[in-house]
Amino acid sequence: MSRKEPSIRLRCMGAAGEVTGSRHLVEALGRRVLLDCGMVQGGHTETARNAAGFGFDPAELDAVVVSHAHIDHIGRLPLLVARGYSGPIHATRATADLARIMLEDAARLAAADAERESRVRQRRGEAPVQPLYLLRDVQDTLRRLQPMDYGERREILPGIQLRFEDAGHILGAAIVELRFRTGGRDKVLVFSGDIGPAAAPILRDPTPMHEADLVLMESTYGDRDHRDRNETVRELGTILANAHADGGNVLIPAFAVGRSQELLYWMARHWHDWGLERWQVILDSPMATRVTELYQRHTELFDEPTRRMLERGPHPFRLPNLRCVVDVQDSMAINRRASGQIILAGSGMCNGGRIRHHLRHNLWRENCDIVFVGFQARGTLGRQLVDGAEFVTLFGEKIRVRARRHTLGGLSAHAGQSGLAAWYGHFHGHPPVVLVHGEDPARKALAEVLQQRYRARVTLARAGGVIRF
Ligand SMILES: [Zn+2]
Repeated sequence: MSRKEPSIRLRCMGAAGEVTGSRHLVEALGRRVLLDCGMVQGGHTETARNAAGFGFDPAELDAVVVSHAHIDHIGRLPLLVARGYSGPIHATRATADLARIMLEDAARLAAADAERESRVRQRRGEAPVQPLYLLRDVQDTLRRLQPMDYGERREILPGIQLRFEDAGHILGAAIVELRFRTGGRDKVLVFSGDIGPAAAPILRDPTPMHEADLVLMESTYGDRDHRDRNETVRELGTILANAHADGGNVLIPAFAVGRSQELLYWMARHWHDWGLERWQVILDSPMATRVTELYQRHTELFDEPTRRMLERGPHPFRLPNLRCVVDVQDSMAINRRASGQIILAGSGMCNGGRIRHHLRHNLWRENCDIVFVGFQARGTLGRQLVDGAEFVTLFGEKIRVRARRHTLGGLSAHAGQSGLAAWYGHFHGHPPVVLVHGEDPARKALAEVLQQRYRARVTLARAGGVIRF
């Protein structure tokens, strides 16, 4: 018995049942297109998993499409190129710009990790290790980028058309639409990338999509809604007011992309009512400073309220007394002042970066305040602090934690369950959906909502599992 084979195969190879390492292979019309090529982050097997094979020969890929520049979506591109991929990498214009900052930083981190590991191994009489990839591989990768505008349609391969739409997640983040000419009628695959929350400032909201034969969708927060954003912002105002009365410094560990810019934005909006002229605001992160400059080169991507701020003031990022610190010496000088500073520094989970130096100098002071504005993964210093650790170890030194700790839950760059379900609800005919980029409890909860509300046919992608449509 013969049956016409469905013509498109989707193989979810990463971020299937976990939130990092996004990588999906689409095979259609005799071509192979890779969606995202992200790094696995976290867990003790992280290094080995990132260095492992791709599960296909990179030289046999015809095109790569990336949804956005977070490292868990693009971090392994240089490895893909080093191992033989020589075709185009399609991305939005802003993602292409941001990819340079992100991948150069990743190469520097990889070099530092390898050097540290090599020293340990050499003392044991073992051979040194090589970094995951080099700056040279990053340069080779950046040369392959082919930037596109949102809304533009481009035939990237014969019979395969690509379009990006706003995902509202970070600068340049896109929903990916692939349209395949398969003889009779077009078939459409929509990949959500990471979907942002509708209430977030600066960037436009995620674009409602209407047509798809298959939806490949993230589910990071598929099991919950975030706290109300405006309430969270009011809480930040109260914390800063009380902190001024305490008379110490305020430390805010923040990721360089998205969160740092949003914090600057809220401080600009509330400059007067929060009495911020009494503080020195410091962005102590060369990377966040570069990213903030990049945001300002892409104001065409901002939402209406932020564009109005650009026209009429206050400027969303250039606070009247903001200091962007790049130099290490200047960063160290900040530590000599015990009061009057709001310091934003990375890393967001305190497992690296300049924030660790500031924590060392401020954690023990009871008039200082630490404000956590993002997710703190298990095993990080940030998580220890959020969980109420009385002592922590920094640079081999035991430090008593007496600073006040605050956790602000409502500033996520991801849509919660309601937002994800609402975005899916715009598709006509509620097409089959494959859930990725979420741990199992989150995926299962979202699957239930989509099944009950829309009678959607939902698949939870398994690593290496194939879906045909
Ligand atoms: Zn992301």
